[in-house]
Amino acid sequence: MGKINTVFEECDILVVGGGMGGTGAAYEARYWGRDLKIVIAEKANIDRSGAVAQGLYAINCYMGMQWDENQPEDHVRYARNDLMGLVREDLAYDMARHVDSTVHKFEEWGLPMIRDPETGRYQREGKWQIMIHGESYKPIVAEAARKSADKIYNRIMITHLLMDESKSNRIGGAVGFNVRTGDFHIFKAKAVIVGAGGASHIFKPRSTGEGMGRTWYAPWSSASAYALPIQVGAKMTQMENRIVLCRFKDGYGPVGAYFLHLKTHTQNAYGDQYEANWYEHTKAMVGDYIDHQPTPTCLRNHAFIEEVKAGRGPIHMVTTEAFQDPHLETIGWENFLGMTISQAVVWASQDIDPKYVNPELTTSEPYVMGSHATCSGAWASGPEDLSPDEYYWGYNRMMTVDGLFGAGDALGGTPHAFSSGSFTEGRLAAKAAVKYIRDNKNDKLKISEKQYQDLKEIIFKPMKTYETYRNEIVGGTVSPSYLLPMHGLQRLEKIMDEYAGGISVNYMTNEPMLKRGLELLGTLQEDLEYSGAEDLHQLMRAWELKHRTIASECVVQHTLFREETRWPGYYYRGDHMKLDDDNWHCLTLSQRDPESGEWTMEKAPVYHIVD
Ligand SMILES: Cc1cc2nc3c(=O)[nH]c(=O)nc-3n(C[C@H](O)[C@H](O)[C@H](O)COP(=O)(O)OP(=O)(O)OC[C@H]3O[C@@H](n4cnc5c(N)ncnc54)[C@H](O)[C@@H]3O)c2cc1C
Repeated sequence: MGKINTVFEECDILVVGGGMGGTGAAYEARYWGRDLKIVIAEKANIDRSGAVAQGLYAINCYMGMQWDENQPEDHVRYARNDLMGLVREDLAYDMARHVDSTVHKFEEWGLPMIRDPETGRYQREGKWQIMIHGESYKPIVAEAARKSADKIYNRIMITHLLMDESKSNRIGGAVGFNVRTGDFHIFKAKAVIVGAGGASHIFKPRSTGEGMGRTWYAPWSSASAYALPIQVGAKMTQMENRIVLCRFKDGYGPVGAYFLHLKTHTQNAYGDQYEANWYEHTKAMVGDYIDHQPTPTCLRNHAFIEEVKAGRGPIHMVTTEAFQDPHLETIGWENFLGMTISQAVVWASQDIDPKYVNPELTTSEPYVMGSHATCSGAWASGPEDLSPDEYYWGYNRMMTVDGLFGAGDALGGTPHAFSSGSFTEGRLAAKAAVKYIRDNKNDKLKISEKQYQDLKEIIFKPMKTYETYRNEIVGGTVSPSYLLPMHGLQRLEKIMDEYAGGISVNYMTNEPMLKRGLELLGTLQEDLEYSGAEDLHQLMRAWELKHRTIASECVVQHTLFREETRWPGYYYRGDHMKLDDDNWHCLTLSQRDPESGEWTMEKAPVYHIVD
């Protein structure tokens, strides 16, 4: 390892991660903070980064208030219903009331929207989704961020947040390294907005071996959005609320357009529509929630999982009817070509033409994220005009660390935001961050050299470890003195899969398994002190693994705390197989002590601010 260059940057607002939330934050920060210095630090390149990198075929959250299609209240009811009663309604409402203006901006910036030829309105795919020609969605929003930020640092992986030493519990910036040059980067910032996406690859994926990189959620979403706040003691919420997706087998191709637009349906291996057969069984577990419309996503998964367990799999999507219509056939294929090309490739490689063969579906491994159909993430303040006292501490979307904000997957309690809602949350967070900076303009941040020099040692240690010990072995990759990131990742995925409710146990766990899982995660974390990285790419992998492991520990703590099965189809607590509204109609909160690593768990009330 040669000499490491240090690059120092001082700014007002640092945006960590230039995905949908981060680009929205940079755009809005400039609007309210014309005179402020706004910087983005992004692990990849904002033009093609994050979950929207490949493009999307639909914007999944648009109210259509201009045509009185939906109101924010409707969206809160929808999200609450899908999450079995538990969301932060203040945050959900706040996002929903602003999301249409975000979508209108996307169109203004050049995103091709599909319009209904008869009404002239945006073409709906379902009640909330509108269809787009979205291959270039991400470059379009990235351009807005590029024009707004003073500086964009691409290829910087942020590993730790910095804390102000003149005031307790106040953010001071972040540090990381350039994954191409190896430079050490220090960002001193008055406010930090985390938009670093959710977490794939914490549970063992169905795809293994050479296909391991093929997961539903982007493989580069490495839980930094959770690990960064957790490391500085921010409170987290609903981290047990992982998501399991029903998707086309092996390619994880999306099913939304098929169900909603092509009007396809599912059947078991014997051609029966099975969902209704599980009604009584599910009702015994969750009561009236099974009667809610639309049926919550987890409960539809539950019927799927039970049907396969009963020996009547595989489950197929019936495409052979819709695909006889050339228009629908085109839409079916375009749906993949615009966002999940790999599904089309998988079908071609497996001789599946959906016009003649009904393709298989499967349920995915679990993922942790806060912007899709689940709501894991940081506990944040809501807006002044909506939030009850317990949900409000001065600045919208500010976490429990002063000056630390979040958007998109990073924030908890706000499901069904999707791409447009995440961008909107970034905007809301940035507006509040500007106000925070103005209100605290006399703050003088103190970041000692010791704070960042200590972190520099920690960050580059895996490369030093590798260099020191690599000659102990003459072949292969297994060393007595270090653990490579891939080895550690597979160990993490196995622990989470087997003990925290992954695919190999049919999403089942219980208290003894979770406690054992925590012990194993503890020894994994001890061993990660001996991570070895042979180059900068592996150094990034080593830090992604550390972030994933910290977030996983949080997931297990939450899963252990909630003694019920709230979301059958996402996971099951075998020792508490029923939904228990008397004791658990609440949000769960965790906090990790940065010094001791000890976790504290508590319940927070759910306030229903919409009827
Ligand atoms: C498979 C899939 C399909 C989806 N389909 C749709 C759809 O059809 N319609 C829709 O509206 N929404 C869809 N979504 C949802 C949408 O993509 C997300 O809601 C949205 O991207 C979340 O925004 P975000 O900013 O939180 O994360 P992202 O957009 O993923 O951005 C996170 C950013 O942080 C960066 N980053 C990560 N770690 C670090 C670090 N340590 N340091 C610096 N940078 C870092 C990443 O590189 C990335 O740029 C889909 C999501 C997935 C996963």
